[in-house]
Amino acid sequence: MFFGCHLSASGGYTAMVETALSIGANTFAFFTRNPRGSRAKKEDPADAARAVQMLRDNRFGKLVAHGAYTMNLCTAAPEARAFAAEVLEDDLRRMAALPGNFYNFHPGSHVGQGTEAGIEYISAALKQALRHDYPVKVLLETMAGKGSEIGGRFEELKAIIDAVGSENVGVCLDTCHVYDGGYDIVKDLDGVLAEFDRVVGLDRLCALHVNDSKNPFASHKDRHECLGRGSLGLETFARIVNHPALKDKPMILETPNALPGYQKEIEILRSLES
Ligand code: FE
Ligand code: FE
Ligand code: ZN
Repeated sequence: MFFGCHLSASGGYTAMVETALSIGANTFAFFTRNPRGSRAKKEDPADAARAVQMLRDNRFGKLVAHGAYTMNLCTAAPEARAFAAEVLEDDLRRMAALPGNFYNFHPGSHVGQGTEAGIEYISAALKQALRHDYPVKVLLETMAGKGSEIGGRFEELKAIIDAVGSENVGVCLDTCHVYDGGYDIVKDLDGVLAEFDRVVGLDRLCALHVNDSKNPFASHKDRHECLGRGSLGLETFARIVNHPALKDKPMILETPNALPGYQKEIEILRSLES
């Protein structure tokens, strides 16, 4: 199985693979640029090529890169929206240095314009970016439904997927977000996955963020907790890692940890495999 965590990209790709190996991870996530700004690092093709070889040699699963939080494809001001769309295109182009991996992002917040308008803006930007056909699959993250966030309902993700009309769009399911969003994966994981299959299709599910939640069910808050210390609990993660529809997907920790904590949680996830 493929377990990993979010890593700092500051030392480059090779350094991330080395860090991942040192904590027992065989996949990982990283921000493609400053998560709270928009600046990206200078590209280093030799570093990327070395990382690609190391990933192959060590049989890593697909990586799950993460777009910047500030990239809101459905923000209100047209110039800001256009800038976000440029950032998206640039991220996909950069991801071509690590071909065949995933690029996940938060669909966006419609900031009062309404869900429908938001979905239209996001879909248009994605369609535009995907015309380049870079070797990367784009994943929409399931959101907690905080504020005017889009992606808190499976129907919203499905509407974007349909409007874009590309095989290159999938979904990354965040366990904290869906639980916060009102999908009860603690009491009924099978029911939630059946609902996902009915609305979106399980063939679109490509990766998971495995996070516990600091808040109770359907709180729409989005505060991650360490595995087993939140409202999801280890039994839920045991069901997740062993679920036939999920077990082959990269599972990424975004829990409040430094590296030793992540190493421990990767061990926990492996110990839950039956
Ligand atoms: Fe995220
Ligand atoms: Fe997440
Ligand atoms: Zn979150």
